[in-house]
Amino acid sequence: MKNAHNIIIIGAGPIGCYLAQLLKQKGFDTLLIEEHKEIGKPIHCAGIVGKKVFYESKLPLSKDCIVNTINGAIIHLDNQTIQIRRKEVAYIIDRERFDKNLGRELNVIFETKFLGLEKNEKGYVIETDKGDFFAKIVIGADGAASLVKNFVLGKNNNILNLRGVQFRMKFRPTYSDMVEVYIKKPYFYWVIPEQNNTIRVGVISQNPYHELLEFIKEKKLGDNILEKFAGLVPVGCLSSLSYENIFLVGDSACQVKPLTYGGLYFGMRAAELLSECIVSNRFLDYSRLWGKKFGKEIAIALKVKEIFNNLSDKDIKRLFLFAKEKVNLIEEKGDFENHSSLLWELLKHPGVSKEILNIFFNILKTNF
Ligand SMILES: Cc1cc2nc3c(=O)[nH]c(=O)nc-3n(C[C@H](O)[C@H](O)[C@H](O)COP(=O)(O)OP(=O)(O)OC[C@H]3O[C@@H](n4cnc5c(N)ncnc54)[C@H](O)[C@@H]3O)c2cc1C
Repeated sequence: MKNAHNIIIIGAGPIGCYLAQLLKQKGFDTLLIEEHKEIGKPIHCAGIVGKKVFYESKLPLSKDCIVNTINGAIIHLDNQTIQIRRKEVAYIIDRERFDKNLGRELNVIFETKFLGLEKNEKGYVIETDKGDFFAKIVIGADGAASLVKNFVLGKNNNILNLRGVQFRMKFRPTYSDMVEVYIKKPYFYWVIPEQNNTIRVGVISQNPYHELLEFIKEKKLGDNILEKFAGLVPVGCLSSLSYENIFLVGDSACQVKPLTYGGLYFGMRAAELLSECIVSNRFLDYSRLWGKKFGKEIAIALKVKEIFNNLSDKDIKRLFLFAKEKVNLIEEKGDFENHSSLLWELLKHPGVSKEILNIFFNILKTNF
């Protein structure tokens, strides 16, 4: 049959490409269907990743996309500041190059938009604006606004898509190796140093464009804007990641850290689980394995996010000052990819005051 493939992946973003490379390594051919004319564009990412993105990868990842190394963060709340120093905690990457590296020598059909799919006796008919394709397995790696998701979950899923906006600007940052984060409940702004006096400044919120312009004015970051980017970030937790032989991975599966919105680390780990399930013909295990490995982390982070949004400004300030006192513990125990472990470390620390425990006790009383 013309255009027939065993596995078709919708979306040649980083996660679709990484999955295709993992499957290729095991001798499975895939076809990726991508609506844009090249990989890596348009960019919708701040491009900060923990070093584990490189070190835990099951494929050697070229480091030629790293444009800066980050040695910590400065977190601001009103006029209070916490400075956390951790050597080589993260990298700033050129996302276009990162994605293009992952897409090397893959079978991608560009400028082809996935429209829908139907089941037939041999597998699935995949409808695109360039005609039909056929596959036994369909993988939705088509990002936050995934269409494939509708075929797995129906249109009713409780995923919130937040909007993110980021500008690249010419500006000399105060610190060339530290990320600055400004907490403004319920969101936060970031200022990320790239290189050559260039910064990435952005926010993910309900009205990000307007709010970012206000922030840039307030922080006197100037008006030398080089580029503007925008994109969606899914926040939530899906009840299932597959239906029959249709699977979701990456942003389409909401595999994103709910507190910081990073999606590359989770998406890559999920792609590894999915490739293992496909290779070993254990399709039904994918959702379960994902839930076992990361479900708890996501559930805790979502709860923390909800609680944070309901805290009074006074309690947020108290918690911030508490964190400031415990900066050594944060530097020692913090994990860029796993946020809940630090929370437990802070709570069980002998130095935790009665006042802080009271805040947590009240939170527990009202939330559980
Ligand atoms: C403002 C912002 C900042 C971010 N910052 C970070 C960060 O610093 N660190 C981090 O780890 N993550 C960050 N993220 C999240 C990160 O960008 C995503 O998690 C990551 O891109 C997910 O990869 P993906 O392959 O699942 O989806 P995507 O990158 O969205 O790729 C999906 C692909 O599918 C294609 N596609 C979609 N629909 C169709 C269709 N119908 N037909 C054909 N092709 C289709 C798209 O063109 C795209 O190429 C950020 C996101 C935003 C919006």
